[in-house]
Amino acid sequence: MLEPNAAAVPELTVSVRQLANRPGTSRQLTVNFDAAEAIGTEVIGVPEGQPVSLELLLESVLEGVLATGTVRSTARGECGRCLEELSVPTEVTFQELFEFSEPARAGEAPAEDQLMVIDDTIDLTVPVRDAIVLSLPFRPLCREDCAGLCPQCGARLADEPGHAHRTVDPRWAALQDLLEDEREEI
Ligand SMILES: [Zn+2]
Ligand SMILES: [Zn+2]
Repeated sequence: MLEPNAAAVPELTVSVRQLANRPGTSRQLTVNFDAAEAIGTEVIGVPEGQPVSLELLLESVLEGVLATGTVRSTARGECGRCLEELSVPTEVTFQELFEFSEPARAGEAPAEDQLMVIDDTIDLTVPVRDAIVLSLPFRPLCREDCAGLCPQCGARLADEPGHAHRTVDPRWAALQDLLEDEREEI
């Protein structure tokens, strides 16, 4: 049985008492909370304490409660090319069925990842977290045409238009090495 993580994200446990055994009824609500933990990857994510808005439609169906949610927040991370800090608004929709645990079904254990209505409440922590992770860009960029960093010195090219290094013709490079050697000897 899933243990609702009430301590970490109390706002994400929602009562569905009015919906139990009343197929066809529904309830709409908006839940605003601060992320209890960082959600995302090493590159980008919604940081701990970041405000998250969850718009919920809860519908009573025969098997349980169908939850349709829209999650909005702001992810922070760094550009995959120039490492500049960036923030990206995220919006993602999910739909999950929370099944009633009927006594008739007690014999057959529910699938491990099956979401359940427990004590007339549903815990949206996992669906919300998974939805946010799926909404994050795989390789965030500060802008689509970010020029990245100079491969020679690591300077951020967007900060220095026309940034360039003196390039030496390879045929002259050997000669220049010789000259520099001589200079060192002097
Ligand atoms: Zn960039
Ligand atoms: Zn450079």
